[in-house]
Amino acid sequence: ARALARKTALVTGASRGIGRGIAQRLAADGALVVVHYGTDGPAAQETVDAIVEAGGRAFAVGAELDTVDGVEQLADAVRSGLRAHTGEEFLDILVNNAAVTGHLPYAETTPDLFDRLFAVNVRAPFFLAQHLLPTLRDGGRIITIGSAVTRIALEGELAYTMTKGAMETYTRTLANAVGARRITVNLVAPGPTETDRTRAFFRSSPEMEANMIQAQALPWIGQPADIADPVAFLASDDARWVTGHVLDASGGTYLG
Ligand code: NDP
Repeated sequence: ARALARKTALVTGASRGIGRGIAQRLAADGALVVVHYGTDGPAAQETVDAIVEAGGRAFAVGAELDTVDGVEQLADAVRSGLRAHTGEEFLDILVNNAAVTGHLPYAETTPDLFDRLFAVNVRAPFFLAQHLLPTLRDGGRIITIGSAVTRIALEGELAYTMTKGAMETYTRTLANAVGARRITVNLVAPGPTETDRTRAFFRSSPEMEANMIQAQALPWIGQPADIADPVAFLASDDARWVTGHVLDASGGTYLG
C-alpha cells in the first residue's frame, strides 16, 4: 500500500512553487490533498489537474491568509470539502507552506509590511492549526515550511527571517502540547529553491547565480521536489518518533 493511502492532507499555498510540489508528492503517496491558494484559483486548478492526471485525488480551496476571517474560512472550507469528498471531516496532515516572501531590506520595511509578513507567515498557521486541531486525527502531522535563513544573518530578509524563527519556536512548543495525541509537529527549512517566482531573481545575473551556488555544500539550487520529499517522510509513519524537529533541506546553504 502507498505510504499515505486513506490519509487526507491540506497544503497551504499549493497553487505554485514548493507548495505545488508538496501537494503533488503527498497525492502520489496516496493522500487526498486539499490544494489551498490565496488569489490564483486557475493556478491551484492546474495543481489539482496535474494530481488527477497522475492518478491522484485533490480539490482546491481559496482563502486569503492575511486576515483573521480568511483563516477561519479556510478551516471551514477544508472541513466541508473533506465531508463532501470522504463523508467525514478528518484531516491527517496539515502543511503550513503559504508565506509572504521576497527581498525586503530593513530600511524599507514599513509597519504595514511587517504586519503583513507576520499575519500570513505566523498568525495564519498559528490559528489555522488551532481551528483544525479538533479535525486533525490522532497520530496526525503538522509540518511547517520554514527557511534556512534563521541560521544565516541576511539583513535584506530581516522581518521575513523573524517570521521563520517564530515558526521554529512554534514547532517545538506545539509538539509538546499535542504529543499525547501522537500528533507530531515538525519544520522543513529550505535554502534557495527554484520556482516560477525565484527563477528570475536567482538567474538575474551570472554573478548572482555563481554566488548562490558557491554558498551551497551541494553546489546546485534546490527544486520543489527536494523539499517535498522530506515533507513526505515527515508525513509518513516512518517519522512517527520525530517531533519538535527542524529539518534542514537546503543542500547545505552557508555551512561555513
Ligand atoms: P511562492 O511565492 O511561489 O508561493 C506562495 C504560495 O503562498 C502561493 O500559493 C500563494 O497563493 C500563497 N500565498 C501567499 N500569500 C498569501 C496570502 N496572503 N493568503 C493566502 N495565500 C497566500 O512561494 P515558494 O514556493 O517560493 O515558498 C513556499 C514556502 O517555502 C514559503 O513558506 C517560503 O517562505 C519557503 N521558502 C522558499 C524558498 C525559496 O527559495 N523558494 C527558500 C526558503 C523557504 P496565490 O498565488 O494563490 O496567491
